[in-house]
Amino acid sequence: MVSESLGHLFLVSFPAQGHVNPLLRLGKILASKGFLVTFSTTETTGEQMRKASGIIDTMTPFGDGFIRFEFFADGWEEDEPRRRDLDQYLLQLELVGKQVIPQMIKKNAEQGRPVCCLINNPFIPWVTDVATTLGLPSAMLWIQSCACFASYYHYYHGTVPFPDEEHPEIDVQLPCNVPLLKHDEVPSFLHPTTPYAILRRAILGQYKNLDKPFCILMETFEELEPELIKHMSEIFPIKAVGPLFRNPKAPQTTVHGDFLKADDCIEWLDTKPPSSVVYVSFGSIIQLKQDQWNEIAYGLLNSGVSFLLAMKPAHKGAGHDLPVLPDGFSKKAGDRGKVVQWSPQEKVLAHPSVACFVTHCGWNSTMEALTSGMPVVAFPQLGDQVTNAKYMVDIFKVGVRMSRGQAENKLITRDEIEKCLLEATGGPKAVEMKENAMKWKEAAEAAVAEGGSSDWNIRYFTDDIVKANESEIAGKCIGSNEFPVSVVVKSNEKVAELVGSSA
Ligand code: UDP
Repeated sequence: MVSESLGHLFLVSFPAQGHVNPLLRLGKILASKGFLVTFSTTETTGEQMRKASGIIDTMTPFGDGFIRFEFFADGWEEDEPRRRDLDQYLLQLELVGKQVIPQMIKKNAEQGRPVCCLINNPFIPWVTDVATTLGLPSAMLWIQSCACFASYYHYYHGTVPFPDEEHPEIDVQLPCNVPLLKHDEVPSFLHPTTPYAILRRAILGQYKNLDKPFCILMETFEELEPELIKHMSEIFPIKAVGPLFRNPKAPQTTVHGDFLKADDCIEWLDTKPPSSVVYVSFGSIIQLKQDQWNEIAYGLLNSGVSFLLAMKPAHKGAGHDLPVLPDGFSKKAGDRGKVVQWSPQEKVLAHPSVACFVTHCGWNSTMEALTSGMPVVAFPQLGDQVTNAKYMVDIFKVGVRMSRGQAENKLITRDEIEKCLLEATGGPKAVEMKENAMKWKEAAEAAVAEGGSSDWNIRYFTDDIVKANESEIAGKCIGSNEFPVSVVVKSNEKVAELVGSSA
C-alpha cells in the first residue's frame, strides 16, 4: 500500500483528548493528500478510542491516501495510580517510548511500510530524539495558539520580564506588535504561584528540543495571528496549518478520536428555533467544583435560555465526585434543557440552533468556536485558557468574559452567569459578536480552501517530505528554513540497522 502513497508518516500523540484531536485531524489532512498515516498513542487510550469512536487498526483508504492506528503499551497496569502524576508519567512514557517506537518503525519497514517522517505533539519531545537517532526527519504540531507559543518561548529564554515572586502583577509585552498581556492574561502556568508547576515543566520541556524538528506546524492560521506568526517564524520554521478540523477534502469523515462516545443531541437541537440554544462545555480535563456547578445550573435556569449542557463523568480514580445538578433541576428545565456526558462538539457548534458557547477556552474549543462562526462566553480556568479568553474577547471580539483572568479559586455567581448569557444571546453586543464570528469563519474557510494560507503551508510541508523521501543523501537540508535533517533514507535500511543494534 505504501507504494501507492506519497510516503508513510508516523504520528505519535501524548494520550490526552486535547492532544489527540488536533494531531489526528492533521493526520487526516495528510492522509487525504495522498500519504499513508499511522496514528499512534498509548494502548489504554487506543482502547478508549476503539470503544467510543469505533476506530479500527487496519489500514483504511482516506481521501487520496490511507490511515491506520497502531498503539503501544505504556508499561503500566491499567489502574496504575502513577499515571495521574504527570512528572512520573512523562518519564515512564519516555522510557518506554524510546524503546518501542523504533521497534514499531522497524516492524513497519519490514512489512513494506518504511516510515519517512515522525510527527509528535507537546509533552513527548523525545520523539524528535528517536527520529534523529533513526536518521528520520521530524516535525512537531504545536496545539495551542501562537500567542502562547511566543509567551512560553520568551519566558523560557528570559527575553522579556514575566510575573515573578517579587513582581507578581507585572504585565507582559511580547517583543512584537501585539497587545500587552496583563499579568492575569499570561498563561497561568507561568505564574510563580501556580499550583500546576508540573504543567509548566511539561510544556517547557518541548523547548529544549525545538531546534531538531525541520518544521513546527501550528494549529492556527496566518490571518488570525499575523504578527505573532511572523515574529516566531524569524526564530523557528513555523507553518500555520489550522483550523485542522476543517478538511475540505474529507468534510464528512467518520474517523474520530473521541475517548467517550458522544451522546445524541442533534435531533434535540433540530427541534429548537435558530440561534436559541446555549451550548455549555468545559472540555475534557477541567473538573469544576460542585458549588460552581450549582451556580451554573441556576444561572441557566434563571436566564430562561434553552441550553445543551455537557457534563463529562469524573476521571477514574481522580478523587473527584461525580458532579450533580441541584434537586429538581431537570423538572424545572423541562424540554428547554438537555444534559449529556459528551457532545459531538464539532456538529453542535455547526448547528443553526446554537446561539453561543460557554467554554473554558481550551485551544481546540476556541478554534472550533471561532471558525464555526460561534460567539462565546469565556469561562477560562487555567493555563493557556486565560490567554485564549483575552484573545477571544478583546482581540477577535467574539466573546464576553464570565470570569476575569485566573479564576482557579473564584466562584462565578449565578447572577453573573445569567447576565453574560443574556448579553451573548440578545441585544447589540450579541449581534456584533455574531458578525465578527462569521468573519472569522469565512477567513478560516479561506485559509484551508485550495490556495489558502494553511493549504499552502501544508503543501510546502508535504513537498519537503516528498523531496526528502526521494533523497538518500546524508546531511541534506530540507525546508525553506534549511533546518538540517541528519540523514534521510528511502529504504529504511538504516532504521533496521540502528534499531537492530539498539533493541
Ligand atoms: N469535546 C467534545 N465533546 C465534549 C467536550 C469536548 O467533542 O463534550 C472535544 C472538543 O471538540 C475539543 C476537545 O474535546 O476538540 C477538547 O479540547 P480543548 O483544547 O478545548 O480542551 P481540553 O480538553 O484540552 O481542556
